Amino acid sequence: MEATKWMEQAEEAILHTYNRFPIVLDHGEGVYLYDTEGKKYLDFAAGIGVQALGYGNKDYNDALKTQIDKLLHTSNLYYNQPIIEAAEKLCRVSGLDRVFFTNSGTEAIEGAIKAAKKYAYDKDKTTDHEIIAMEHSFHGRSLGALAVTGNAHYREPFEPLPGIVKFAEYNHLESVASLVNEKTCAILMETIQGEGGIYPAEEEFLAGVKKLCQEHDILLILDEIQCGMGRTGTMFAWQEYGIKPDIMACAKALGCGVPVGAFVLAKHVADSSLKPGDHGTTYGGNPFAGAAVSKVLDLFEQQKILEHVKEISGYLKKRLEELKAEYPFIRARRGRGLMQGLELESAVSAGEISAKALEQGLILITAGNNVLRFLPPLIIEKEHVDEMAEVLQNVLRECRQ
Ligand SMILES: *Cc1c(COP(=O)(O)O)cnc(C)c1O
Repeated sequence: MEATKWMEQAEEAILHTYNRFPIVLDHGEGVYLYDTEGKKYLDFAAGIGVQALGYGNKDYNDALKTQIDKLLHTSNLYYNQPIIEAAEKLCRVSGLDRVFFTNSGTEAIEGAIKAAKKYAYDKDKTTDHEIIAMEHSFHGRSLGALAVTGNAHYREPFEPLPGIVKFAEYNHLESVASLVNEKTCAILMETIQGEGGIYPAEEEFLAGVKKLCQEHDILLILDEIQCGMGRTGTMFAWQEYGIKPDIMACAKALGCGVPVGAFVLAKHVADSSLKPGDHGTTYGGNPFAGAAVSKVLDLFEQQKILEHVKEISGYLKKRLEELKAEYPFIRARRGRGLMQGLELESAVSAGEISAKALEQGLILITAGNNVLRFLPPLIIEKEHVDEMAEVLQNVLRECRQ
């Protein structure tokens, strides 16, 4: 088999940092992926929440092809039109004021941390400012992003990590409040914890943290890398909470497949933090990435993606609740919009279920402590939810205890 050969070659040439599923993906169409053997898969992972518009969107592909022929890269020493338009659109949909484009989520977090530190430094001319981050959080793999990631397993081999970071319990306001002192410069969290197991912030918690931040002139940094870009039915998950961050990090679906991230700042932070020379990137925000972001934001509007997510996510929730009612080993359903999780009892392995689902043509991933994670393209229809539920039902039936 050709696929087996490719997999062997991969293990010889690519550093083994992933235990990959045993398929070689070849192409995609709509919400389906096809492997090199021609087998079809319904995609409920969307490349970890990246492919919001699915695969093969003609308008998007055409926009990228046009930009390739025109101009791919210039560096940030010059202006380019696509990224200016992308930044304007991102400011408009977020209600925030200034954008710095990066190549990944990790870099967006790095930049957000630097901006917060510089803001505090400019204010009191001291260093050693502290960041409060959350237990079970995930913010990326660079040393700075690891330093604020609340998963000891990811962090420990690489310690000491930069900066002074204290970890609070997520959704526990007292735990955050007890860590605040005159050195605290930022409180950082995902609006909905993704890798940690699909835990949305509770409204009172986020409102309470925002109040703490305002009282102490601490910056609120929200990581919207996974939960942002329409996934919950609003452009950004925090927009449902009636609060606003001082800095937001986004990536994943921002480029819908083109590697691009951003940190977006409120004006008061932008005006007194990173200045020329303080931060930079060669690739970040190049014309190609700009064309992608700009087109993605246009298509979200034209295709009424937010309205669609609000509608279809109710149906996904309903089908997941039905599965939960039927199988007692499903302990909980959590999530908002099209970011959903089913937590399983430890006797049933989410990893094994996702492997079996794959054999039956359904791509699912896991999160946190034994949670099945649902992050489909935002363009899924009812029939796809039904197809997913049917396959999952077949797999779960085999696990019935
Ligand atoms: C994926 C993710 C990141 C890291 O993004 P990369 O593009 O992989 O660097 C950071 N935060 C959250 C919440 C994520 O889901």
